[in-house]
Amino acid sequence: MDGLMMNRPLLQSGVLDFAAESFPAAEIVSRRVEGDLHRQSWAQTRERAVQLSFALQDMGVGMGDRVATLAWNGHRHLEIYHAVPGIGAICHTINPRLSPEQMAFITHHAGDGLLFTDLTFVPLLEKLKDQLPPMRFVILTDRAHMPENTLDALCYEELLQGRATDRDWPEFPETTASGLCYTSGTTGDPKGTLYTHRSNMLHSLATAAVLGADLGVQPRILPVVPLFHVNAWGLPFTCPLIGASMVMPGPHLDGASLWDLCQTEGVQSAWGVPTIWQGLHSEMLARGGKPEALRHIVVGGSAMPRSLIEGFEKLGIDVNHAWGMTETSPLGSQGSLTADKRALPLDQRMALKQTQGRRVFGVDMKIIGDDGQRQSHDGVAMGELFVRGNTVASGYYNNADASAKAVDKEGWFGTGDIASISPDSTLTLRDRAKDLIKSGGEWISSIDVENLAVSHPDVAQCAVIAMPHPKWDERPLLVVKCAGTARPTLEDICTTMDQHLAKWQFPDDVVYVDEMPMTATGKISKLRLREQFKDHVLPDLR
Ligand code: ADP
Repeated sequence: MDGLMMNRPLLQSGVLDFAAESFPAAEIVSRRVEGDLHRQSWAQTRERAVQLSFALQDMGVGMGDRVATLAWNGHRHLEIYHAVPGIGAICHTINPRLSPEQMAFITHHAGDGLLFTDLTFVPLLEKLKDQLPPMRFVILTDRAHMPENTLDALCYEELLQGRATDRDWPEFPETTASGLCYTSGTTGDPKGTLYTHRSNMLHSLATAAVLGADLGVQPRILPVVPLFHVNAWGLPFTCPLIGASMVMPGPHLDGASLWDLCQTEGVQSAWGVPTIWQGLHSEMLARGGKPEALRHIVVGGSAMPRSLIEGFEKLGIDVNHAWGMTETSPLGSQGSLTADKRALPLDQRMALKQTQGRRVFGVDMKIIGDDGQRQSHDGVAMGELFVRGNTVASGYYNNADASAKAVDKEGWFGTGDIASISPDSTLTLRDRAKDLIKSGGEWISSIDVENLAVSHPDVAQCAVIAMPHPKWDERPLLVVKCAGTARPTLEDICTTMDQHLAKWQFPDDVVYVDEMPMTATGKISKLRLREQFKDHVLPDLR
């Protein structure tokens, strides 16, 4: 028997309307490309999103059309995030750090017909435009800052001018596609994850449920995570849901710029990848303290080393280590500690914070061992992590091959991550399947080795990659970027591992680099490191 409750579609426009009405004091603060600091309320954001939605419709944008963005975090990007899905079109966020070839591939694959760009990327687009599908361009600025360009581009502010600022948003099924985000291609060609209104709304409700208490009442949040990466961790929808203010950093993501912005804007919670936090942490040490209001950091995208988590904790900042993927909207697990765990001694607390935390409601998890069998959730057994839920991709946009491989026979999505899960659902990521090192039939987790090596004071960044070995199959090679001029020896670095790893898990050799190659999403690119050191000969083979 069906129940007798209303069944209203979960549409993203609902959350913007809600914030505009309910949280007049919250604001969107944007450090803009033009150089100024701009402020507007959620109500003004809604008015401008409404204006944009009318402009889009006048330009012929309708249900299912793909509208691309190439932009930093700022209020105009946020307006597009809401206006485009508001009329049933799809907001396709492009990562500007992708190579020109990948950008051309993605715009063709997505079939973008319109692209909104920040001033920064106009020269790039001018060079690239012949390789892009036929499309119109809009530059996110006002008339005074419009550059000369060969794109025949429209001016964003002019597009909005004089239009009505209120409307009833159209209604359509909640399963309508709302956003398109390609994986950065760390593991092959970029693949498009196509979010729905329903998945984004359920994702923001789940995020608010697990993180709301830590964030506090109407928090001031700094999304360092770009709006163009992993669905911006859902913040464009979670923030209006909880009445948060958003402090948008624009293009300046170095430690000093972030420190200043956090300080002047009273940021309480900041979200980003570990490399960003490394920069901010160094800045805190250099300045002898943290920005006053900052008390909470969410970190994900790659593993946060314990030394960095502890460094922040010592400065009074609670680190919440989260796991997720583009394909999981992205939040799958997060490490907010329950009251009993907060009371634990530092050592035990840090060990817990190094894990990727408990699963989020609505995301089921299983691990499958090498034998194809489900492993027990005992915190020890390892295997590939599979996930299932309303916020998990069921396939990839316009890619039958990848879609067929994405999901197993029981309907679970294979993450390609190797993990263990403890009885209380705490997820510990051991590695990406392709980064694990297979030595003599046993596995070595590159994450474990890296976490220990980076706690050495002379190591700024490091990565462990597998080198082929005739006897052991593979052996670990440690790549180090030094913190200063001192070059720590392998023996020196391995003292950090003595208590924690078996001797056979120690790296066989160390090499030094001036700069770590990074992926478009701010992760160390092991693909490029493997290429760079493919001819390296390990000491016992020389
Ligand atoms: P890509 O890096 O391929 O573009 P995503 O940005 O979607 O793809 O990243 C998802 C991947 O990032 C996960 O599958 C996992 O390997 C890694 N990852 C995410 N969060 C964490 C974390 N907290 N610790 C370790 N690895 C993580």
